[in-house]
Amino acid sequence: MNLEDITTVKSILSQPQKIVIIPHKNPDGDAIGSCLGLYAFLKSLNQEVVVIAPNDYPKFLKWMPKNETILNFERENSQSKKWLEEATVVFTLDFNDLSRTGQLESFLKEKEADFIMIDHHQQPKDYAKVTYSDVNMSSTCEMVYNFIEYLGGLDKIDEEIATNLYTGIMTDTGSFKYRSTSSRTHKVVANLIDCGANNMEIHRQVFDTNSPSRLHLLGVALSNMVILSEYSTAYITLTQDELDAHDFKKGDTEGFVNYGLTLEDIIFAVIFIENKEEGIIKISFRSIGDFSVNEFAREHFNGGGHDNAAGGRSDENMDVTIQKFNTILKSYKSQLNP
Ligand code: 5GP
Ligand code: MN
Repeated sequence: MNLEDITTVKSILSQPQKIVIIPHKNPDGDAIGSCLGLYAFLKSLNQEVVVIAPNDYPKFLKWMPKNETILNFERENSQSKKWLEEATVVFTLDFNDLSRTGQLESFLKEKEADFIMIDHHQQPKDYAKVTYSDVNMSSTCEMVYNFIEYLGGLDKIDEEIATNLYTGIMTDTGSFKYRSTSSRTHKVVANLIDCGANNMEIHRQVFDTNSPSRLHLLGVALSNMVILSEYSTAYITLTQDELDAHDFKKGDTEGFVNYGLTLEDIIFAVIFIENKEEGIIKISFRSIGDFSVNEFAREHFNGGGHDNAAGGRSDENMDVTIQKFNTILKSYKSQLNP
C-alpha cells in the first residue's frame, strides 16, 4: 500500500463505520483466516464488523477463532442482505474480481460504499477505492499483517488475530514451502507465534482430523490418477458417484491435486471433480517452475489464480472435459517438456 492509500484507510477508519468483509466463494484457509484476522483487528478499533461468506467452508476450518460469527450468504440470506445494505465500508479479501463471490456479485456491483481490496491474485480488477494488491505475497493473511502494521496496529495482534493469520499463511504456502514463501513470511509467522499462535495445535487441527471416508476417497483419487509422461502431467478425476460413495463433505478433496507433483518429472498436476448440483466439473491446477497454470486456467477453463496454483471450471461432462484437456495439452508440449 502506498502512503496515499494508508492515509485514505486511516481517515475512513477514524470514523465509526459499518464494515462488511467478504472472502471468495468456497473460501479456503487463507480466505477465512484473513477475514477473521481483519475482523478481530477492526473490532479492536471499536468498529461494527461482520464477515459474510458467499457459501459454506470446510469443517477443517471450523475451529478457527470467531468462525461462528461468519454469516453464510446462502444460509443467513436476509441477515446478510441487511448488513450489506447498511454497510459503509466493504473489504474484499483473497480475490481479484467480484465474479469470484458467486451470488454476492450482483449485490456488490450495485453497492455504494468504500471498497478496500486486499489480495495476492494476478490481474486484479479495478473496483475498489483502495486496492492493496501484491502478487508476490505468500497469502492474503501475510498482507493483512502488513495492513495492520501500516496502520500502526501491531500491538493489537492478540492470540485470536495471530491464530487466524497463521492458519491462512500456513495453508496458502503448503506449510511454508511454496515459492512465494519469503524470509519475511517466516518473520511474520515468528511474530504471530510470539503473539500467541499455537503452531503445533493449528497444524493438527487443519491436517490431522481426517475421517476414514476421506482417506478412502483419497485412495480412489490416487488409483484414478492418469500419468501423461510426454507432457510431464498427472491428472486425477473424481465423479459425483465416487464422492457420494465416500460420504463426501466440503473440503474432503483439499490437497489431493498436490500428490501428482510429488512424482519425479511431473510438473503439471490437475484434479477434475464432478459437481452434479452445480452442473460443472470443478478443476484445480498446480505446477512446478515456470509453467503458468494461471494463464492455462484463464485461457481454457474460465478460471485463474496464481502462476503455480489456479482453479477453473468446465460446463461439459467429465468425458468431454477430459477429451478437451487432452487436446489442449498437445499445444503445450514444448512448454511442458523442456
Ligand atoms: P484451488 O484449486 O485450491 O481451488 O484454488 C487455487 C487458487 O486458484 C486459489 O488461489 C483460488 O483462489 C484460485 N481459484 C480457484 N478456482 C478459481 C476460479 O474458478 N477462478 C479464479 N479466477 N480463480 C480460482
Ligand atoms: Mn490466498
